Amino acid sequence: MLTEFIAFAFMVGALLPLSTDSIAKVGMKLRPIEMDQKISTMAETVGVKLDRVYLKEGGGINAYSLGGLKNVLILERESMNLPEEEFKAMVAHELSHIKRRHSLMRGAVLASGLLMALWLSSLNRLFLPAFLLVFLVDMLICRRMESQADRDAATFADPKALISLIWRYGDTGSMSDHPSAQTRVKKIESMISGH
Ligand SMILES: [Zn+2]
Repeated sequence: MLTEFIAFAFMVGALLPLSTDSIAKVGMKLRPIEMDQKISTMAETVGVKLDRVYLKEGGGINAYSLGGLKNVLILERESMNLPEEEFKAMVAHELSHIKRRHSLMRGAVLASGLLMALWLSSLNRLFLPAFLLVFLVDMLICRRMESQADRDAATFADPKALISLIWRYGDTGSMSDHPSAQTRVKKIESMISGH
């Protein structure tokens, strides 16, 4: 039971940082910044009350959001240099996650799934398959959430800018919680053309 618990704790720890933009990583160095005009206008357009915006030191173009008691947007420094329309598309994508309460939903799914996996493992030795199932379900849910956020961002911002932003991020790989860049772009393109 102890080894199972250690494995469980380790896997929870390994699983949480997988989310690239819905769960703020523990230990991030964040600095609160003034709400930019572009951000507050977009928050109004999407219909989200944004409580705080933070800047994260880091080399990449990325953004994160947390929705719940406080709605928080975290931007990596590099993303502040994006062309204006791409910046707006990125913010719109994150605001959609907040509006749809994605981080809360994902937290609930993960917590209940892992509890169930732990319960199953106490019955017999099903821990690994149960855990893999939670992992798979979580990944599918995340991909759905990403598609929803892309769809919203394409509505509230320039879809072409969203596409170039996605190409800029690069491909995230099949085990990531984000769908591949190609899949995301295809979906947005078919949305623009009205199919
Ligand atoms: Zn996202």
